[in-house]
Amino acid sequence: MQQQADKIIQTLKAKGLRVTPQRFAVYADLLARSDHPTAEQITNHLNQDGPTSSQATVYSSLQALREVGLVREVLLEEGVCRYDANIEPHHHFRCQSCGAIEDIAWDQLQDLDLKALRPGLQVTHYEITLYGGYCNRCHPE
Ligand SMILES: [Zn+2]
Ligand SMILES: [Zn+2]
Repeated sequence: MQQQADKIIQTLKAKGLRVTPQRFAVYADLLARSDHPTAEQITNHLNQDGPTSSQATVYSSLQALREVGLVREVLLEEGVCRYDANIEPHHHFRCQSCGAIEDIAWDQLQDLDLKALRPGLQVTHYEITLYGGYCNRCHPE
């Protein structure tokens, strides 16, 4: 646990971020989960043992982490911004019933053939979102 905490502090410092309790708490929370929470869900989680964080400080911590590339926004639903501390290239699966979002490792899907695009389209980056299926909580078996 202490090791993990030291690692987080080192990571924040290496990115030139001042280590504040809020940034630490938000980043640690995001690293420990893979459900791509909203800022509100992070705030609720941090406050479950008593109020320590306001939505505004969580949000500004997220922006600071995002600006240095430790956290990315995941926009899979209109008007809903979720956050991800997995900054390696990866794909997403989104359950059509409960909305759960799960990471899919990059090498689990075949690379797209970008050479098949019409000439003139220059693509440097893509990621795939798989929709329309169910997670195993919604469709057990
Ligand atoms: Zn589901
Ligand atoms: Zn993700």
